[in-house]
Amino acid sequence: MKKYCPVCENNGNVKEKAINIQVGRETFHTKTLVCEKCGHYALTPKVRKTMESWGQKLKKNIVEPQPLFTETTHQFLEETASKFGIKKIPLIKVMISFYLNRVVGRNDFDSLKTAVEKQEGFNLMTKGKKIKLSVPIHYLTLKKLEVFCQSWDIAYAKAIEEAVLFCSTVLTYRDIARLREIARRFEEFVEDYALAA
Ligand SMILES: [Zn+2]
Repeated sequence: MKKYCPVCENNGNVKEKAINIQVGRETFHTKTLVCEKCGHYALTPKVRKTMESWGQKLKKNIVEPQPLFTETTHQFLEETASKFGIKKIPLIKVMISFYLNRVVGRNDFDSLKTAVEKQEGFNLMTKGKKIKLSVPIHYLTLKKLEVFCQSWDIAYAKAIEEAVLFCSTVLTYRDIARLREIARRFEEFVEDYALAA
């Protein structure tokens, strides 16, 4: 039976082939159905599952986005990190994880984001010259980041900036009950991390 390609809608060009999927700096090798005409390959649940366990076993960081932060933000991150007894990069990773896992899925996400962006703290942290920072990311975080970046059509570095500015602003501002509650949950989240680290 001839196989059909859902992308170019051609018959007969779909064959099982070895392919390489680039995941950050690493390459995942697998075999799957590939359309020789347009190059589309099938990411079947089985392929996804194999890729998932391959990715989870990777010890190294596979991408290193370079978000930009103002000096005020850098300083705030240093201070906050030492308050929690961790380093700046781990704190940023916790912020990314908290933002992607606990914030972006909320029903009130849009209004929450707007509320944060209106705060004086946000203003202070975004004004002025920005300095680059390398944030190494490993597989599981990358996967989450990828989903978020695709749906908002933004780069990894941009998403990291967003997560960091959101969490930092929330931590500096306690007058709105909703933000206060998020700040409290964030603190618990970091403390769990710090205990586990
Ligand atoms: Zn095709």
